Amino acid sequence: MAQALIGESLVTLCESCRSLAPSAGTDALGRQYCADCFARLPMSSITHIMEYLENTVPFQVGEQVQCRTAGVLYDGIGTIDEVSTDPEKFGTPVYPAFHVVLHDKAYPEAPDDCWYMETQLTKANT
Ligand SMILES: [Zn+2]
Repeated sequence: MAQALIGESLVTLCESCRSLAPSAGTDALGRQYCADCFARLPMSSITHIMEYLENTVPFQVGEQVQCRTAGVLYDGIGTIDEVSTDPEKFGTPVYPAFHVVLHDKAYPEAPDDCWYMETQLTKANT
């Protein structure tokens, strides 16, 4: 990847217009683009990026997981019924949030269902 430090900012060679500019984004093949060109990428490239991110999601709907609040307090075992990249549910495209319905609570006050982050979940052996 063509990168250079000019002054204080890291710039990259835009794959499309060949100008040196801060990288605004990378396509599915790892090519970098300036902000103008990245915004003008055909939708299929954006779709490929989203597909790439979806394929790297560590858990899928229907999977059984062990849940830990704050990664420490063990809540129990549940089933993922929704995966979200919505920031309101604390998810992002890179670190999605997982909604889990708990069916095997570790303690009575454990939530019936809750949003968890990847680091709070481990696959349950069922
Ligand atoms: Zn460009």
